[in-house]
Amino acid sequence: QRVDLIEMLEEVADRFSFQMQEKEIQIAIRIENGLRHVWFDRDQIDQVLDNLISNAMKYTTEGTIRIQAATIAEGYLSISVEDTGVGIPKMDLERIFERFYRVDKARSRNMGGTGLGLSIAREIVKAHGGTISLESELGKGTKVTFTLPAGPERGAGQ
Ligand code: ATP
Ligand code: MG
Repeated sequence: QRVDLIEMLEEVADRFSFQMQEKEIQIAIRIENGLRHVWFDRDQIDQVLDNLISNAMKYTTEGTIRIQAATIAEGYLSISVEDTGVGIPKMDLERIFERFYRVDKARSRNMGGTGLGLSIAREIVKAHGGTISLESELGKGTKVTFTLPAGPERGAGQ
């Protein structure tokens, strides 16, 4: 499916405008020059982005959430969502994509959610032939990056 990446990222970000106003959070979208039309299953990738942005929102009190999209190789795309929130302790990093895994139950309990968001995001990205990774520093923030084949011949899900 041919997707206008600029339009899509703006649409996803707009969904969070209420929360952005409630907290002092901005969303900044940066797309590599000339990158606009990509090929992937829009509904599925929307779900990945929605998950990542909602995490960034939940675990950040103020600042800017940065969404960046770039080409990494012919027909391959990378999209990252970076926040300036509470971060994730090193000891939890390797289990963070597991189903139901959440950092520090006390911290997560009043946040709502089930601990499925990241595992679903990983399933979807994998099913598209991409990869997903997370970097985080406690107290500084978190960055999740995923890659996807997104050219007309290689994009999955058509
Ligand atoms: P759900 O996504 O099902 O609503 P959830 O957000 O708790 O629940 P995941 O999205 O899978 O579950 O995330 C797992 C855990 O990873 C979270 O509970 C949280 O502890 C931690 N986490 C995820 N994203 C971030 C982030 N951007 N900043 C800090 N911690 C995060
Ligand atoms: Mg989540």
